[in-house]
Amino acid sequence: MPNHDEPSRVALHEAAHAVLLHDAGIAVRRVVLDADRGRAGGRVVAGLDALCAPASCALAGAAAEIEAGYPAPPSDRWASDFAAAERACRRDNVELSAELVRTRNLLWRRWPAVRAVRDALLRRRALDRNEITRLIETAVQNHSEAPCATALAR
Ligand SMILES: [Zn+2]
Repeated sequence: MPNHDEPSRVALHEAAHAVLLHDAGIAVRRVVLDADRGRAGGRVVAGLDALCAPASCALAGAAAEIEAGYPAPPSDRWASDFAAAERACRRDNVELSAELVRTRNLLWRRWPAVRAVRDALLRRRALDRNEITRLIETAVQNHSEAPCATALAR
């Protein structure tokens, strides 16, 4: 899931993938922030079982950026994530639009975990499986605070 933008935005995107993969029972081996020709990039390394992940795992990065209020990126930047989400939707016989709503609801509840992974990633640039698991499992569920109340109200 390569990605190019400012580091905090990339970190949020990759953290959201990692949290929803973890919540779907898929082991996240590594999350990395790196640079490609001077631009920030990032990726999540998961096992082959990620191929069986629900569409929400592929949509998580883009949905988190939307929730956080970032403007739409160049059209190609989310292309591979949406292609993966469309494949998962066909396989699972669900609608992409419904999966996007579901993804945003999942992210809203898991926003503290997403933020914890994002912040650790920005500090250390790479997180291993144990660290990712610890960050996600120690973050509390969010019951009161929406990441972006206006975005959720739309
Ligand atoms: Zn992505």
